[in-house]
Amino acid sequence: MRLIFIGPPGVGKGTQAKLVKEYFGIVHLSTGDILREEISQVSPLGIKAKSYIDKGHLVPDNELLNIMSKRLNKEDAKKGYLLDGYPRTIPQAEGLDNFLDKMNHNINAVVSIELDDESIIKRLSSRRSCEGCGNITNLLFNPPKIEGTCDNCNGRLLQRSDDGKKVIIERLVVYNKQTAPLLKYYYKKELIMRIDGSGNIDNVLQLILKALRELCCV
Ligand SMILES: [Zn+2]
Repeated sequence: MRLIFIGPPGVGKGTQAKLVKEYFGIVHLSTGDILREEISQVSPLGIKAKSYIDKGHLVPDNELLNIMSKRLNKEDAKKGYLLDGYPRTIPQAEGLDNFLDKMNHNINAVVSIELDDESIIKRLSSRRSCEGCGNITNLLFNPPKIEGTCDNCNGRLLQRSDDGKKVIIERLVVYNKQTAPLLKYYYKKELIMRIDGSGNIDNVLQLILKALRELCCV
C-alpha cells in the first residue's frame, strides 16, 4: 500500500501516520527524516542538499526527488510506504508521479486529515512544553495535575514561541495556500480521502482505517 498523508499543523498527522504505519507494517517516510539521514551519511546527494540548507534555501525539487526516489527504491519500501510532508507542491507531485510511472507503481490514496482553522488555533495554542525535561503536554487533552507544572519533573510549563496565536495563523495561511492546489490535483485523480480530524486519536485512526478498507487495499 502506498499512501500520502496531508494535513495542517496541529491536526495530529504525525501521530496518525505512525499508527497507520504500524497497523499495515509499511514504512513512514518524512522528508525531514530522509534529508537528515542522507546528510548524516555524507552521500553525494546529502552533500548537495546540505549546501542549500546551509544557505537557508529550500532543497530544489529535482534534488529532493532524487533523494526521495533513492529512498523509495530501498528494500523496506517494497511492501509499501506512507509519505508524510511530501509532495508539498504541484511540481513535486508531478515529479513523484513521473517516478512512480517509471516504476510501474501508483499511489492508493491521499489521506487528507481536516480540521477547521479555529480548532487548530485552539489546539496549538493549548500546547505547553516543560523547560526541564522537554515533555510536551496539551491543556485540552492531557492537562497537568498541577497547573503550570510538569507531571514528570515538576519543571515549569511554557508556551513555545511558535505556538503563539500570530505564528499559528501565519503557518495556517501558508499551509492553506500551498495545499489547496495539491488537494485539487489529487482530487482530479480521485485519490483524496477526506478524514474528519476533530475527534480523539483513536476516533481519527478508526476513520482512516475504515476509509482505507472501503477504498481498496485492506
Ligand atoms: Zn518536565
